[in-house]
Amino acid sequence: MKIGAHVGASGGLITAFERAQDIGAEAIQIFGAPPQMWRRRKIREEECEAFRAGMEETGIEPVFLHGPYLINLATDKPEQLTKSKDALSADVQLASAIGAKGVIFHVGSHKGAGFEKVLPQMVAALQEVLDGTPDDAWIILENSAGQGGSVGSKLAELGAIIKEANSPRLKVCLDTEHAYAAGYNLADPKGMDDAMSEFDREIGLAQLVAVHANDSKIELGGGVDRHENIGKGYIGRKGFEVIMAHPAFAELPLLLEVPGLEDEGPDKPNVKLLKSIRKKVTKS
Ligand code: ZN
Ligand code: FE
Ligand code: FE
Repeated sequence: MKIGAHVGASGGLITAFERAQDIGAEAIQIFGAPPQMWRRRKIREEECEAFRAGMEETGIEPVFLHGPYLINLATDKPEQLTKSKDALSADVQLASAIGAKGVIFHVGSHKGAGFEKVLPQMVAALQEVLDGTPDDAWIILENSAGQGGSVGSKLAELGAIIKEANSPRLKVCLDTEHAYAAGYNLADPKGMDDAMSEFDREIGLAQLVAVHANDSKIELGGGVDRHENIGKGYIGRKGFEVIMAHPAFAELPLLLEVPGLEDEGPDKPNVKLLKSIRKKVTKS
């Protein structure tokens, strides 16, 4: 189980490794493009090559990209759907070029139209992106907290999308805060077991490739996406002991997306805390 974090990459992709080393992260997630914009800079082959070399040198891997927040495969606006597919494709291409495992992204929101109604459109969009991108990068769906009609607060929804789109390149990232806010009580041994059994039944545990490790500012079932530093929220330190002791997570990278004690993003204290919990609950 690697303890990793989302880190910045401004100033060039390669700079992500310095930031990771500064906080002790063993795996990373970065943005391949500004998260709130459709525009993206062109990243040249030399920069990709340097990044792959950096990964090898530092041993910091796996690497994941996180897609822009603007992506919405469930939108009813054709222009936004096209831009979403283009942005996702560009990120999958970049993931392949830099040796990242794939792109973790928020599937989108149907804004109340209903999951069943938008399912065929999401599946078609994913198939289009899969067809147009290199085979060696995954497309990784993240579960949601459920606010505003966001897709994927129920594991069965992610399962339905993956089953219909039917590609081994479709994977899942489980965000602990989103799951907790969606009503999965991961902080409790029985709740964690139930959630992972449901994951296995609806999606298949083999599809789980990453975990976003975040505590929650929102109570169980609160339905809102609000990350808290580890041990400072409703999941709590004890909750993370439960989560990290679960066999389903034993081989997975944990990626912090917490505000940090200085509000500058994932930091050393959060990484250290997860490492100490890992020490306690595993033999590694
Ligand atoms: Zn996310
Ligand atoms: Fe997340
Ligand atoms: Fe989130």
